Amino acid sequence: MALPRLLFVSLGGTITMVPSDSGGIAPKLGAAELVASVPALKDVASIEAHSPFKLPSPSLTPDKLVDVAGQIAKAFESGFDGAVVIQGTDTIEESAFLLDLLVPGDKPVVVTGAMRGADAPGADGPANLLAAARVAASKEARGLGTLAVLNYDIHAARFVQKSHTALPSAFLSPLTGPLGVVAEGRTHIYCRVGRNPTLPIAGGGPAPIALVKVPMGDDGRMLKDLPRLGYAGAVIEGMGAGHVHADVAPILGELAEKIPVVLSSRSMTGPVFTSTYGYAGAEIDLLKRGLVPSGYLSGLKARLLLGLAIRGGGNSAGAFTPYQ
Ligand code: ASP
Repeated sequence: MALPRLLFVSLGGTITMVPSDSGGIAPKLGAAELVASVPALKDVASIEAHSPFKLPSPSLTPDKLVDVAGQIAKAFESGFDGAVVIQGTDTIEESAFLLDLLVPGDKPVVVTGAMRGADAPGADGPANLLAAARVAASKEARGLGTLAVLNYDIHAARFVQKSHTALPSAFLSPLTGPLGVVAEGRTHIYCRVGRNPTLPIAGGGPAPIALVKVPMGDDGRMLKDLPRLGYAGAVIEGMGAGHVHADVAPILGELAEKIPVVLSSRSMTGPVFTSTYGYAGAEIDLLKRGLVPSGYLSGLKARLLLGLAIRGGGNSAGAFTPYQ
């Protein structure tokens, strides 16, 4: 039987990094070299390898990921069965969510990376690549949208977060846990998520959205300047269930009259509340002033959804409904 066809797209990251003249590690390897370094991949899939970028993931941008989404969608139309995106772990939770929002259909897109460099003792890249390929080639992963596969865990893009700076077990889905695991070379899915509506790739990159974490005692003075700085929207990471100092609430209300403002939480996980706290600066007050709740989406993910929803003058209303 013919092996599944997978597209491998490498963007860079620690998984591609080896010691450089700068004294530290830096991106060097491309997708073809990574694939060649894991001989077992040839039994999993027929692989076409591309390396559009060799960047550390802090230098990736949403626009670049929109391009990658376009390449994957085209590959799926031409008969590929799945895609593996290789990149730095610092921004995997954002890239995976962008791809989830943009790549339509049931074929699996799997994002992976590594916490240890390619030359490091105990490098986790090869095991992650093999696990990602197994998931992308599997029937079980169909219909789950974009997944992040690291350390044998299979995470849904909407829930996954990087939770540690160093450990190979850095990736968690704190709200739900992972959807499944790769064990004995097989993809095991224990719970499934439904696909949420995708947005058109052709619409281009997200509009610029400010992401503001609210610290204790801050008077919100920077918020007034966001429209003047060219931001088309803002996501506010409020305290706890979505709260700010009472004096900041009217400033946010004025801001929401000018640009869409989404309320998320600076807490690690959990939904933003909509109907519990009645004091000034709490969620009932802020929603009355025109803010939109992000549901269970983190600030990082809410920023990407808002930016895609309002590009080209689109409306944010409704984009967050599936995430409540
Ligand atoms: N700083 C690296 C990056 O995101 C970290 C990694 O890949 O693990 O490119």
